[in-house]
Amino acid sequence: SAEPTIRARLVPSPTGVLHLGNARSFLLAWLWARVRGGQVQLRIEDIDGPRIKLEAIEYTMADLLWLGLDWDGDVVQQSKRLSVYAEVAEDLLRRGLAYPCVCTRSEVESAASAPHESWMDTSPYPGTCRGRYESIAKARDRSGRDPALRFAVPESVQAVPFDDAFLGRDPGRIAGDFVIQKRDGGPAYQLAVVVDDAAFSISEVLRGDDLLASTPRQL
Ligand code: GLU
Repeated sequence: SAEPTIRARLVPSPTGVLHLGNARSFLLAWLWARVRGGQVQLRIEDIDGPRIKLEAIEYTMADLLWLGLDWDGDVVQQSKRLSVYAEVAEDLLRRGLAYPCVCTRSEVESAASAPHESWMDTSPYPGTCRGRYESIAKARDRSGRDPALRFAVPESVQAVPFDDAFLGRDPGRIAGDFVIQKRDGGPAYQLAVVVDDAAFSISEVLRGDDLLASTPRQL
């Protein structure tokens, strides 16, 4: 039987010029795949609203090529896949795996009963809107706010332990239900990454450890 194809990704967010931390992550991701005859996909993560600078896409591609890092196949641009993410969010909502949430960031912070521990990248969500509204429309009518969508982390799955090739075993704790669609209807980073890693059969995820807390959510 054939070995599964190794597929890594280079996923710059075009917010400015490539910095050294990105270059390091990209070099490692590229090497990790190429030394084993694997493929590399370039995916431009240009959905983070006002921070995105379109000219930075060109600079980033030029910098990657200057570093000697190439990629296979078409470049994926997240801003062109908004309807794909919206469909997945809609499907999760329909299946009861996501729910509308009208909480603001400061409400979440002040309501969180658990303190913000070092492994968390955000205040834990206390579940205020879970089971509260039947639909997006009802949430909007009753709160007067545009709702975000949160993934409903099953009660039985409060952690998703995983093995990291550099850091070893991680307990994979999750700080409560997390946002998958923003209040403006755009996809949250957590959703877009998972949809794309799955859609393009990515087998290897190498990235900065600032995203360690995201990994259990994405798994
Ligand atoms: N686009 C993200 C960044 O540049 C990385 C996302 C990821 O590795 O999942 O920080």
